[in-house]
Amino acid sequence: MAARKRRSIPEINRRLADGEAVVMTAADICDDLRSGRRVRFEDVDVVTASTCGLMSGTYAVLSFPFSEPDRFVKAKRIFFNGVEADPGPCPNERIGVVDAIVHGTRRSSRDPDYGGGHLFQDLVAGKPVVVQVVTDGGNTLQSEITLDRIPHAVLHGSRHAFRNYVGFVNPGPEPMPTIFCSQPLPGAMAGATACGCGEINPIQKDPELRTIGIGTRILLNGGTGYVTGSGTRSSRNRPCLSVVADMHGMRPDLMGGFRTSAGPEVIQTWAVPIPILDSDVLKTVKTLDEEIPLVITNIHGRSPLSEATYADLWFGTSRHFGFDRRRCETVRGGCPDCPPALLCPSGAFTEERVGIEARSCYHCGICAVSCHGGCFTGDIGGVFVEETFVPFVQRLSDRVSAEAAARDLKTRILAGRFRLSQPVGRIDPGS
Ligand code: SF4
Ligand code: SF4
Repeated sequence: MAARKRRSIPEINRRLADGEAVVMTAADICDDLRSGRRVRFEDVDVVTASTCGLMSGTYAVLSFPFSEPDRFVKAKRIFFNGVEADPGPCPNERIGVVDAIVHGTRRSSRDPDYGGGHLFQDLVAGKPVVVQVVTDGGNTLQSEITLDRIPHAVLHGSRHAFRNYVGFVNPGPEPMPTIFCSQPLPGAMAGATACGCGEINPIQKDPELRTIGIGTRILLNGGTGYVTGSGTRSSRNRPCLSVVADMHGMRPDLMGGFRTSAGPEVIQTWAVPIPILDSDVLKTVKTLDEEIPLVITNIHGRSPLSEATYADLWFGTSRHFGFDRRRCETVRGGCPDCPPALLCPSGAFTEERVGIEARSCYHCGICAVSCHGGCFTGDIGGVFVEETFVPFVQRLSDRVSAEAAARDLKTRILAGRFRLSQPVGRIDPGS
């Protein structure tokens, strides 16, 4: 009987150091399989999987010197660009240091479309941020700060990287404001939204969490992070993860805020190395979009209504969108409002209507769906719900950015700038 093929993480690291290991992105391996190529255990050592999308369970812990010692006893309230943070947990009595916990979904008092996710992106981009501290003596102190002056700036994910997610429709008569769409989700099931990066998602590639464990080194928004366990609401059927990562090494183009009809949300990007330890891991890594269920749920209570697959979201639909400025200038008199500019969740398309700013675009598609003049190229498809075709009005995950993160991780692994870590414990995803 042939011996079962296996390799360990230390063996893979040795093969990487010797220049012998093969690293593929999840998208590469799926493309190869679709084109009929066989991928055997001998053909690949590591697959880089990734996901990018709305991850509400994100908060930052920031700690930094704010004033000279003894100017105040303790901070009572703290604001960053108008986003209120929770002071503490350490009180830092009389030393002028501030500790703060900032929620990614917290809305700024200055701008209803600006939230914690935007703040995290601004910090990582090196932009100055206005800090206001209301002291326990009732004084308000203000200064500006940049990330390089915040020695402890750590992003935490309490519920990240779900093994894909669900789609939403609204069977009710009225449009419904929701964090799952930049516009109120149309009533009478006139439009759907969906989350999840399908076949490239890290847990989809390792659904039993055999390789991803406590202490697994990953890239969170391009910065080094570590998996700390399962996330809140994680379950065997719908596992998700928690994570911690230093903000100083992150990339602003892989994170940020996302404007929704129910307040600001947070975009985060994970890239995870999946070591191909044996043929069972290789088998799950080969899962394709068309094999992954996309459950379409009722936005009122999230009861399931029908089931599609992630191929409906990602296969044969557009990744990128284009804007025909000339056409817009021809028809603009007919649309004094401009839904793409009003609804774009990231500000990549604005009222100036000059085009899509590629660095800010989350590839959500709502511009193409909502333009009155048909000035955008791109199609995000739809799903059948109870035998009715419901077009997608927005995607809440960004496979373009996720694939870029997976390529980045692959490059770093091959260049010796990222080593695979051995988990220190297994993760119980929940019951
Ligand atoms: S809705 Fe479309 S056509 Fe109208 S102004 Fe906006 S981009 Fe131009
Ligand atoms: S796809 Fe369109 S609406 Fe979505 S982020 Fe990009 S420019 Fe904005």
